[in-house]
Amino acid sequence: MSTPAPRLGMTDEAGQRVLRTVRDDVRAIAAYEVHAQAGAIKLDAMESPYGLPEAVRDQVAAAVRAVEFNRYPDSAPAALVAQVREAFGVPSEADLLFGNGSDELIGMLVQATCTPGDVVLTPWPSFVYFDLAARFHHARFVPVPLTEDLQLDLAATIAAIEAHRPKLVFLAMPNNPTGGLWPREAVRAILQAAPGLVVVDEAYQAFTDETWMPRAAQEPNLAVLRTLSKIGLAGLRFGYLAAHPAWIRELNKVRPPYNIDSATLAALSVVLANKPALDEQAARVRAARPALAVALRALPGTTVFDSAGNFLLVRFARGGDAVFQALKARNILVRNFSGAHPLLANCLRISIGSPDENAALLAALNAILTD
Ligand SMILES: *Cc1c(COP(=O)(O)O)cnc(C)c1O
Repeated sequence: MSTPAPRLGMTDEAGQRVLRTVRDDVRAIAAYEVHAQAGAIKLDAMESPYGLPEAVRDQVAAAVRAVEFNRYPDSAPAALVAQVREAFGVPSEADLLFGNGSDELIGMLVQATCTPGDVVLTPWPSFVYFDLAARFHHARFVPVPLTEDLQLDLAATIAAIEAHRPKLVFLAMPNNPTGGLWPREAVRAILQAAPGLVVVDEAYQAFTDETWMPRAAQEPNLAVLRTLSKIGLAGLRFGYLAAHPAWIRELNKVRPPYNIDSATLAALSVVLANKPALDEQAARVRAARPALAVALRALPGTTVFDSAGNFLLVRFARGGDAVFQALKARNILVRNFSGAHPLLANCLRISIGSPDENAALLAALNAILTD
């Protein structure tokens, strides 16, 4: 049963108090929205189109059944740390920090490094939570525009690092929402120039061969961030950060106690023991990418940017808003970036789905664009 929410008009007492009490910058933004549409083909959030295999589900159920929910969790049990190291090739010299999704780790990174006014810098457009986390923790967010073709502008990035001396530099690789992968030489130059910590966010690493993980403890100012969200476990909130132990020791101090709950820990252990099944699903998504890009490029009035992720950024000469709405009317959800940034004008970000979903997307776009 849902009861109507009380209206929060700015004239009543609660509204007045909200106005006086809640931060201006918080009141000015919109809450992060999840777009639900019953029965829709969901290509808007880079979720995997594939669910957990039945046998793994049964093992998860048994593991969760055995959890002692009356006890607080040990949010970083040694056995699970060892499993994560093994499953994801974390070098032995690096230490690990677990987060309730990598979003939580992004917040903790800003919290532990930035006093009010300190700078968080990132090539832009990129992952919106870099901006939000910086603002929520009173840091100054410095976005460095990508080039017109949505590549890293290395000269501008180095110049901005020298001018702003950021505590943190975030590099999403592959970059969300553009799909690009910054050259190793460029990342090396950024590591050299950055006075603070450089966080390479590898949320989409499963869809490329490129990774900085082996270097995680070799560079004095590199941390590598990963998540399980894009490889079929978006509902299981879990991310991890790998870096030299000196970084992890300090970052761990701002971690909320018990941040990974017992049910997640139990499920995770089972899922990681079945990692080949996840790898196989990610490989299927990756294998579908080139053909989908070719098919999208063949449509009238499209520009498809090269992507190393499980998504493609597409510019529509017809207008991003119009194509977004037309897809939505056909029950296909994608992410509309049209109004988000001038560099993304008329761009939609489309997650790669199952073969059937991709076929439905192409049929719908064909109808829309040749209409
Ligand atoms: C999706 C995404 C994340 C968020 O991951 P969660 O673990 O689900 O919080 C982090 N970084 C980038 C670049 C992403 O695109």
